[in-house]
Order: sequence, then structure tokens, then C-alpha cells
Amino acid sequence: TESQLRQAHKMEAVGQLTGGLAHDFNNLLTAVTGGLELLEHRLAAGQYDKVDRYVTMARTGAQRAAALTQRLLAFSRRQTLAPTATDAGVLVAGMIDIVDRTLGPAIELSVETGRELWPVLVDAPQLENALLNLCINARDAMPDGGRLSIATENVMLHGSDAAAHELPAGDYVALHVADSGTGMTPEVIARVFDPFFTTKPIGEGTGLGLSMIYGFVRQSGGQVQVRSVVGQGTTMSLYLPRLAGVYDRAAPRASEFAQQPA
Ligand code: ADP
Repeated sequence: TESQLRQAHKMEAVGQLTGGLAHDFNNLLTAVTGGLELLEHRLAAGQYDKVDRYVTMARTGAQRAAALTQRLLAFSRRQTLAPTATDAGVLVAGMIDIVDRTLGPAIELSVETGRELWPVLVDAPQLENALLNLCINARDAMPDGGRLSIATENVMLHGSDAAAHELPAGDYVALHVADSGTGMTPEVIARVFDPFFTTKPIGEGTGLGLSMIYGFVRQSGGQVQVRSVVGQGTTMSLYLPRLAGVYDRAAPRASEFAQQPA
């Protein structure tokens, strides 16, 4: 479909360090250069009163540029995935503590992991990363607090349902992260998976979180869905294909699967 083609082009852009990076990096360099120039003037004039402020300005800019570079390096190294049979519900349950600490006291967390979840074949640390990233985005969208709910469920997508999710018909495990935050305009939703797209202040957002999640989920044979209403909140859903293969007919639960010889 056309939207799949669009996403394919976006993924191509992910591999390249394009205009967005140059823009962000340039902004940070401007802060460094600006701080140093002000410092120079002060020193030339023999005025030392605001000197430490300009030093801090330059150092902060340089540190942010370094952090950006680090993240980009980690990003551009082709992620090699190590998929294993994973129970997404167990994975979510194991993340509750860190998610709760990340959200802080103003955000109420509720978790509902479906029972008898189908196993998925996925790189578990990457999925944990994705979940944490979604929670951080949700937190950022709720500066005055709110509610975050995480849920997992088995879903059978067939016919028009599958088409609506831009997935082949089949069985999937869905991981939903829903917040009661600011929500997004249709314009933002349209660009949300673009690498380097961010609405956050320079140095705070890299705009890489969702594009990385998108790449990882697509590589895993799944799909990411965004539902968002301004003023109401956002639900990000990851669909991961049910583990297929020799165990498929027996349809074991992931917990059982783990005990079987590989
Ligand atoms: P970053 O978080 O660094 O900005 P992302 O790719 O993770 O990069 O997100 C891109 C943009 O999508 C964010 O800057 C924000 O505008 C929007 N966004 C993502 N998640 C949410 C959310 N849960 N609620 C509202 N806006 C969101």
C-alpha cells in the first residue's frame, strides 16, 4: 500500500544521518560558539563577573552534542536482533518497578497482562527498551501527572481487521501503552516515526525513540499503531506475530515453550 511505501522510505532515511542531525547538531554548536564568544569579549574587557555562566553554556552545549553523537552511533550500527521465544506479559511484569520509578509519583500506573499469552519471537532486551521508551514519552506528555496503563493481549487479525492494521492476517500479541496526556495533532501523528522528528526542546529529545521502535517492530514482523486525541491522550500499540513453527499447532504458552528443547 501507499502508506507501507511511505514507511519504507522513512526506514531508508533511518540508515542515513541526514538533515535533521545536521540541524540539531548545528544548534548545539551555536550554543557552544556563542558561549565562547561571549567569554572572549568578557575576558578582553577584563570583566570576570559572568564568565562562569558562559563557560557553563559552552560546556552544556558540548555535552549535549556528545550525547547526541553517542545515541546516533548506537542507532546507526545496524541492530542485530537476537530473537527468542518470549512471553510479553512476563516481560512487562518484570518492568513494572523501573517503569513506576521512571513515571514518578504524579502518574498512576496500571498493568494488565493477559493470561495464556501466545509466545512471540522477539529480541527481549529490545522489547524492554521499546516499552521503557514508550513510557518515557507518555510521562513527557503528562507534565502535570495522569494515568498510564500497560496491557497485553492475544489478537487474531483477519480480513479487513488485518488490513486496517497493515499486517498480514494471523495471530498477534498486542502490547498497548495508553496515557492520559496531551495527545497529538494529526500533523504530529503523521511524522511521529520519522527519524529526528521531535517536538521537545533541543538537547532533550532526539526524535529517534519512535523511529527505532518502529524499525525494531517491523524487523520482528510486527506493526506499530498510534491512536491519539489532543487533550485526551495517546495509545501506542505494538503488534508482534505469534511464534510460528513446529510448535505452532500445539500452541504452547511461552512458559511451556521455554521448557521444551529448542
Ligand atoms: P523524542 O521523544 O526524542 O521527541 P520520539 O521519536 O520518541 O522522540 O517521539 C517523537 C515525538 O512524538 C515527540 O517529540 C512527541 O511530540 C511525540 N510523542 C511521542 N509519544 C507521545 C505521547 N505518548 N504523547 C504525546 N506525544 C508523543
